Amino acid sequence: MSDHLDCRNHAGRKVVAHCRHCTQALCRECVTEHNNRMLCENCLRGVSQPVAAESKRRNAAIAAVAAAGCLLLWLFFLATGQILAHAPSVFHRFVPW
Ligand SMILES: [Zn+2]
Ligand SMILES: [Zn+2]
Repeated sequence: MSDHLDCRNHAGRKVVAHCRHCTQALCRECVTEHNNRMLCENCLRGVSQPVAAESKRRNAAIAAVAAAGCLLLWLFFLATGQILAHAPSVFHRFVPW
C-alpha cells in the first residue's frame, strides 16, 4: 500500500489529481478545478483572492504578445511584398522563355 495512491483526506480512495499548489494527492471528491488548475479545497480558499489580479496580468501579457505577433506579421508581409515586387525582374533574368 503506497501513500501517494491514497487521497490525503480519504485513505484508500483513488487519486485522480494532485493539487497544483501544494502537490497533495486528491481523490475526485477533494479536487476542485479553478481556472483550469486542479486545487485542493484549502488552496482554493487561499488562491481565489489573488487569482483575479493574476488573470488580469495574464490578459495584459497575452495582449502584449498579440501586439508583438501583429507587428511580426506586418513585417513579414512587408518583406514578402518587397520580395514579390522585385520577383518579376529576377524571373525574367533566369527563365529562358
Ligand atoms: Zn493544495
Ligand atoms: Zn478525498
